[in-house]
Amino acid sequence: MTTTERALLTESVHATLREQIFAGELPPGAALSVPALAAKLNVSRTPVREAVQQLISEGIAVYTRNAGAKVDVVDDETIRAVFEVREVLDGLAAHQATLRATYKNIEDLSVLVVDQRALLDTPPDHRRDARMDLEFHTAIRDIAGNKPLREASTRLDGQAHLYRSDMWTIEENRRIAVDEHERILAAIRSGDAEGARSAASAHVAGLLVRTRRK
Ligand SMILES: [Zn+2]
Repeated sequence: MTTTERALLTESVHATLREQIFAGELPPGAALSVPALAAKLNVSRTPVREAVQQLISEGIAVYTRNAGAKVDVVDDETIRAVFEVREVLDGLAAHQATLRATYKNIEDLSVLVVDQRALLDTPPDHRRDARMDLEFHTAIRDIAGNKPLREASTRLDGQAHLYRSDMWTIEENRRIAVDEHERILAAIRSGDAEGARSAASAHVAGLLVRTRRK
């Protein structure tokens, strides 16, 4: 197997495990045993070991001395801390994106928000709606073009994904999120970097409250 083939295999194992974790098939606290997963996925242990390492570096799995790697557990306290950092980082991303965005970037963001608005007429789909929300934020971070910010955000997103919440199943929360995305987009479009920062921070602060609301 060439180096490229091995890297592709690791990437594919990593994507599969991530998906199973976020779908709850590998729930928080589940053991990530390299031999067991290699047998289940019918691949050798090396790509599984590398994929699990990657999950650990992404904050999705943790390594415990006695029990090996496990899917991380994100409790109320952790999710609050995660969103507090996201509030600052997504504010910064929106600020930098405003200063750097091209007409094409703005058009692409606009398409995402229009799609989200259109989907409000269809029943909620927790996974789709969470994915589309993430897509919007990832697009802004990409436009911001700040690599450390992008990496830190990916880690926070992984952890946020592990937290069980009914947020995206509540009709009202879906509408509020689209309204907030439109506000962020309007500020970016008009070139108001400070306005984009405060709109993005306010959106994330609201997401935290709605994520934890019982
Ligand atoms: Zn959002």
